[in-house]
Amino acid sequence: MSVEFPQDFREAVRAGTDIVGLIGEAVTLQPRSGGREYVGLCCFHEDHNPSMVVYPDRQTFRCWSCNTGGDIFTFVMEREKVEFRDALEILARRAEIPIPKKVSGRTEHEEHNRAKLFEVLQWADNMFHKCLVESPAAAPAREYLHSRGFNDDLIDEYRLGYHPNDWTWLIEQSKFKYPEKLLHEARLVGEKDGRYYDYFVDRVLFTIRNERGQPVAFGGRVLPGSTSNAKYFNSPESAVFHKSRLLYGIDKARDAIRDAGSVLVTEGYTDCLTCHQHGVKNVVATLGTALTDAHVTALKRFARKVVLVFDGDDAGQSAASRAVERFLAQDVDLRILTLPGKQDPAEYITFAGPEAMRQLIERAPEAWEFAFRTTQMKYGIDTIDGKHRVLEEMLALLAQIPQLAENVKEGLLLANLAQRLGVPEQRVRDRLKELRQGRRNQPHRSEEAVERPAMATEVDRLVRGRLSRDDRLECDLLEIILAVPAAFPYVRRTLSIGKEGGSLEPHEAAEVLRHPALRMLLQTCLEQANPGGALSFSKVLDALEDTSMKRLVVWLDERARSKDLAGRVETLGNDPVDDCPMLLRRSLNNLKWRGEEQSNQRVAMQLSQHGDGPQTLDPAMEALLRQAAEFHQRRATQRAES
Ligand SMILES: [Zn+2]
Repeated sequence: MSVEFPQDFREAVRAGTDIVGLIGEAVTLQPRSGGREYVGLCCFHEDHNPSMVVYPDRQTFRCWSCNTGGDIFTFVMEREKVEFRDALEILARRAEIPIPKKVSGRTEHEEHNRAKLFEVLQWADNMFHKCLVESPAAAPAREYLHSRGFNDDLIDEYRLGYHPNDWTWLIEQSKFKYPEKLLHEARLVGEKDGRYYDYFVDRVLFTIRNERGQPVAFGGRVLPGSTSNAKYFNSPESAVFHKSRLLYGIDKARDAIRDAGSVLVTEGYTDCLTCHQHGVKNVVATLGTALTDAHVTALKRFARKVVLVFDGDDAGQSAASRAVERFLAQDVDLRILTLPGKQDPAEYITFAGPEAMRQLIERAPEAWEFAFRTTQMKYGIDTIDGKHRVLEEMLALLAQIPQLAENVKEGLLLANLAQRLGVPEQRVRDRLKELRQGRRNQPHRSEEAVERPAMATEVDRLVRGRLSRDDRLECDLLEIILAVPAAFPYVRRTLSIGKEGGSLEPHEAAEVLRHPALRMLLQTCLEQANPGGALSFSKVLDALEDTSMKRLVVWLDERARSKDLAGRVETLGNDPVDDCPMLLRRSLNNLKWRGEEQSNQRVAMQLSQHGDGPQTLDPAMEALLRQAAEFHQRRATQRAES
């Protein structure tokens, strides 16, 4: 948990927000079971039967169909597609709770200044747009936009603008409203020798907005016939504008991206706008930079399938190759689209129509396929040498991606590669292993970047009901913990006893579980319990920021409800010996037993490695044999009991 979000602030925000009211603003909710739950149409998938259930007592929600679930923070994060910090801020504002400096990381003064920046940028946006549609001086700009095929509806909706050919126009307009210094901080004007001048002189302006639709910067394009040597000019970065994170059109494209499950990333404003005007709205543009990891991470929150479109020329091809190298490692379904006949997306959609464009997006080859085709074209696969080079290059690409190691996707890719090159699959696997081992000594990408997607996948597997026997054992324990928090002191006591009778730290005690997400949840429970061992459900949720972890908690909680665990534990009564409900004791015993079985397997393995060797046993061997004998005795007792 990060220290920048103080627990009491989160608790205040949670206490000040009722989940039924919050979700009710987006979804029509109907009470059910006498108001113990509410149901409505899920806003995270195309829902025709109400599948979203809201639990006022737990302050959680869950969709039965698409498995989205969590608490108030999850709801805002998923719906607004924002990070935890933003969700916290949005909810704090909604609940009218002042945001402590520590949370935003900004002083009150900075906070005020940010608000001022947004205000002046919004004002400039209005000025530019008004100028474009009303001013006689903007006639050439209007003509240019119409000639590019943009109609007035689009110009209004996307608030395109124009800055006249006058180096102090905006400064004049701002007199008595905003100080020049503020305009400069908003990067609306530049400064030279103590004098300010307008930035976007005689340019058509495209407003760059953040995900919440607030203007943060402008992209200016020269008009035809201009003497300026820069065709495009973007606002420099500011306190509210970071171009490596933002994508043009994201505010308008969000819903369409979510609905389509895919997003097309173009390289220019006009490509993006032309697609939108033709009704293909799941399209955004980078801001004159190459796609970054931050972009991909941002897009991943909206859709799994990210389609990069590149011009059909050579520059486009090599940009595409670089993108494959860079993003094959990301946990997205990355596709590469190159347009026929060296057209750009605007030309293509205008010429071929939206349906053809949609089809192309739909059928864009996977990044891997694209890489294979490109490599194949480079070396050919008609000769042994060509095949060998293609194989080496493709495996070198895979070797860079530790997340893929040993997983199903990698298996498929290798089988495919082996088959296409006519090389035995085992040889391909062995070669990849060699390459990976060669890389092992090199510095790694950040551990966290590798682990996070893995965790989400693991949670996904559970909530879709694909549970192994081990998962079931482990879920049982957590379900009881969530349903009967009163029993938690016992759980903690039991799990915290180390081998030598010492007390274990939460992360050590949690090791009784193997599933990474379940283990992390148990660790969080152990950490969040108060000194007496009491546990509160909302405290556990508060301590977890990760949406997939919260989804897991709500899913477990719901399983516990459907089994009526809380009720059953009560009726089963307390164990006379240690005050522990029977179900819980059974669950802990099962886990303990599993641990013993495992260590016995290790013992058996060590013994078998010794074979039938010397008749006299060394002390270590004797100890192992003794352990094995004890294990078998305990197993007999265990069987007799159950
Ligand atoms: Zn749903």
